[in-house]
Amino acid sequence: MTRVRLLVFNPVLSVLDYRVPPGMAIELGSVVVAPLGPRQVLGIVWEPDRLDGTEVPEAKLRPLLEALPVPPISAPLRRLIEWTADYYCSPLNSVARMMLGSMAALRGGGTTTEYRLSGHEPARLTPQRAAALDALQGEQASIRELAELASVSEGVLRGMVNAGILEPVTVDLDRAYPRARPDHAQPELSELQQAAADAFVAAVDKGGFQPFLLDGVTGSGKTECYFEAIAAAVKDNRQVLVLLPEIALTENFLRRFEARFGVPPVLWHSSLKQSERRRAWRAIVSGEAQVVVGARSALFMPFRQLGLIVVDEAHEVSFKQDDGVRYNARDVAVIRARFEAIPVILASATPALESLQLAEAGVYTKIDLPSRFGGATLPHVEVVDLRKDEPPRQHWLAPSLVKALGERLQRGEQTLLFLNRRGYAPLTLCRHCGYRFQCPNCSAWLVEHRLSRRLACHHCGHASEVPEACPECHTPDCMVACGPGVERIADEVTALFPEARIAIATSDTLNNPEKIGDFVARAEGGAIDVIVGTQLVTKGYHFPELTLVGVIDADMGLEGGDLRAAERTYQQIAQVAGRAGRGVKPGEVLIQTRHPEAAVIAALAAGDRDAFYAAEAEARRDAGAPPFGRWAAIIVSSEDEAEARDAARQIGSASPDLPDVMILGPAPAPLSLLRGRYRYRLLINARRSAQLQDIIRQWLGTLAFPQGVRVAVDIDPYSFV
Ligand code: ADP
Ligand code: ZN
Repeated sequence: MTRVRLLVFNPVLSVLDYRVPPGMAIELGSVVVAPLGPRQVLGIVWEPDRLDGTEVPEAKLRPLLEALPVPPISAPLRRLIEWTADYYCSPLNSVARMMLGSMAALRGGGTTTEYRLSGHEPARLTPQRAAALDALQGEQASIRELAELASVSEGVLRGMVNAGILEPVTVDLDRAYPRARPDHAQPELSELQQAAADAFVAAVDKGGFQPFLLDGVTGSGKTECYFEAIAAAVKDNRQVLVLLPEIALTENFLRRFEARFGVPPVLWHSSLKQSERRRAWRAIVSGEAQVVVGARSALFMPFRQLGLIVVDEAHEVSFKQDDGVRYNARDVAVIRARFEAIPVILASATPALESLQLAEAGVYTKIDLPSRFGGATLPHVEVVDLRKDEPPRQHWLAPSLVKALGERLQRGEQTLLFLNRRGYAPLTLCRHCGYRFQCPNCSAWLVEHRLSRRLACHHCGHASEVPEACPECHTPDCMVACGPGVERIADEVTALFPEARIAIATSDTLNNPEKIGDFVARAEGGAIDVIVGTQLVTKGYHFPELTLVGVIDADMGLEGGDLRAAERTYQQIAQVAGRAGRGVKPGEVLIQTRHPEAAVIAALAAGDRDAFYAAEAEARRDAGAPPFGRWAAIIVSSEDEAEARDAARQIGSASPDLPDVMILGPAPAPLSLLRGRYRYRLLINARRSAQLQDIIRQWLGTLAFPQGVRVAVDIDPYSFV
């Protein structure tokens, strides 16, 4: 190669041509550094005919500066990046950026310096040093990361290095990961599990694209089945990617993986330390990382020898990214498997309607595990009609739920109370003048958190102290909490059963692996009687003594006009119900609702999943909603309200008039102010026949907006706020 076309990581220019200097080894996919004006840019060598760009005459070509010491990005991954950019109407280089992970990793391995406590503790310490000493027990990281952990400045820590309180440690960035042992602890599978495992193993051994939908009830042993497929890939020296919907679930997964394979898998997620990130990325690229477990961002990693992808809890909405490149990792995982020509397993107890439809159409091979492993039975579900079985004023547990909870406490069994709302109360107002605490950056109420004594916005992270007096009328001590959050439910349980040991399980309380590990250990060890938790604890966990699940408000998710509200409610409640009775003792689920007649609630009570999906499919077909029709959203935002509105109107008046496309809006978004930006939305509903992306590209391509306006396209949206 003497000249190359690059996909470059520059926000404005994305395709540029260069000359290859003599002696530089370049191939398709090579990661290179090139000159751009007086600066340098990073780029990937791409097929010239697949990137639109103006041909630069030979004489004007500038030479590449450097080829980075990493293996080239493979053709299947290049095709995946093109597909994703095209499908989600996103810039190619924004998509490609997701596979780089760490700039530092591109520069090669070597060593880095981290710091840890040396054990030397001077008798007298400044308060800041003392606090840092406390916070950094058992930690080892870069100064910057330690400063963040200890909430002190880097200067304080450097002082501690000089004083010998912190000591440097040289870390080898490319130190090897321990090798997984595919036969370490092979479980005895049930007959049905064995059949599922056999199908997966055969697909891995044979190679080639094959998508599976592993549809198994909670506790059926889906994990054990796909572990066999992982073992087969590892034996064959192929890499495996396992996607989990949340980092919080990885802790539990790690332990099970280690029990099965003797070593932990390689982790990839956003809160990895810098040195871990570099090490993991390089091991993924070199092929040394055998099994990689991560949140959705792991999907675009440049694996050398990918042999299998698993998406666990595949129905989870958190696989959909709602900013930047708005892709759905579940769907793109299937596409990646197609380009890589490998099998992919989507596992769920409550698959998305879209996945079931594809299985029905024969695109996915469906494998069922209809019963729990080891003779455990599915829990008994009971509906609590809050209109008849009413909690006292300002209380949220119905008498029948209180009674069932009391029985569990007496028997020494565990209870899980599920309410998908963090904090103490979703709304705080002044008793005297009615003033409501609202976020200054978002059109949202501030949520009271009593544990941390703050009022917090769950959209932008804004937080303030709870004031002594009303900011409006200055009446002291006049704040009233409206409605419940998990903290308030925990208070209610304490008031009823003062001796009960209660754990609040939310992203506020379980925000790092240590805390999660500690929580799981305490729950398994019988040190917790009642867990009050959000969706964080609805999946993955297996607590054998947990025999009662109380759903505090089954109606909550049904409000608010979300296209998938019914499905999401069904999935969430079925999942949380699935935590009950997983051991030998049978489980019971009490669902509190004011609408026992709603189709979702009735289906949950009757345990009739098929009826629910059939009704839901019918409703979607009528509405032309996915998977029968297609949706896309256009979100217009600006810090200037008039500018946002004008841009939205401009888009609205340029709407194409097509027979198979219906356009709704523009209208102010339900979250009309978010992080200081005013927002408008348009919703597009199209027949499956419509070339939705092309239509949107043509439509928006003709328009120009002021600098401050952002126009985002959301294909197959999951969020409508
Ligand atoms: P699911 O993911 O389908 O909810 P899990 O894979 O978590 O189910 O399995 C539920 C529980 O049963 C886990 O504790 C798991 O270890 C156990 N289990 C499942 N299958 C087997 C098996 N074949 N042998 C031993 N234990 C099993
Ligand atoms: Zn906010």
